Amino acid sequence: MADVRVRFAPSPTGDLHLGGARTALFNYLFARHHGGRLLLRIEDTDRERSRREYEERILKDLRWLGLDFDEGPHRQSDRRELYAGAARRLKEGGLAYEAEDEAGRRALYFRPPQRSGRFRDELRGEVRFGKIRDFVILKSDGMPAYNFAAVVDDVHMEITHVIRGEEHLPNTGRQVFLYRALGAPEPRFLHLGLILGPDGRKLSKRHGARSVRELREEGYLPEAVLNYLALLGWTHPAGREEFAGLAELVAEWDPSRLGASPARFDPERLLHFNAR
Ligand code: GLU
Repeated sequence: MADVRVRFAPSPTGDLHLGGARTALFNYLFARHHGGRLLLRIEDTDRERSRREYEERILKDLRWLGLDFDEGPHRQSDRRELYAGAARRLKEGGLAYEAEDEAGRRALYFRPPQRSGRFRDELRGEVRFGKIRDFVILKSDGMPAYNFAAVVDDVHMEITHVIRGEEHLPNTGRQVFLYRALGAPEPRFLHLGLILGPDGRKLSKRHGARSVRELREEGYLPEAVLNYLALLGWTHPAGREEFAGLAELVAEWDPSRLGASPARFDPERLLHFNAR
């Protein structure tokens, strides 16, 4: 595939967790497999929750895992003019309007042309969505809202494949309207299946899920963590399960073996890889 460009776009609102690390790894493998480029984008537009300290910790964890990027980090808080310009164009085109948001301050809203629609997911086929209401694109503090900043950046950075977790499916429904409104082509979307706890519920601390930083501090090896993460939603064509490191994963990677079914977190298995 020619000119593949993908991105990992963490929000610096906490430590890097297993789900985020898996998204980073799968973007990395996808880029390397296709000879494409991987960008790092810091989505720090939530002023209350974003911290520079978390950004540094996320970068450190990514380095520890050995995931290197071809471009970035690009920080969204440095790109406000880009979003303001795009918002202005939507407003001038009658696609966005100012109104009061919940706190009684003025925000800029996008008016989707329809309330429902569909898009194609590489793993799921056609995904239908509905009940899309007008939504904020520029918040009252002048910062772009997540959906808007992500789309403006994905267009500007010429992202060809958006690879992220399934929890973003509802956002993609809003985002496809924004691509069209901006007159930009849509990238391909690939939503990775959920990671659940052993009991089938949303993965959390009570399942023993630790952040990458905690795993590092507990003495886990990056190779073990990567091997474990690679199998959360991907299978090797020959059923192989042990990989010595990132280089071997890149060599063996086959994106056609990605699946949308939820993966289960299994701390025993992670320990097993670490004990090799
Ligand atoms: N900042 C978002 C997150 O951390 C990224 C979503 C995306 O990849 O578009 O979940």
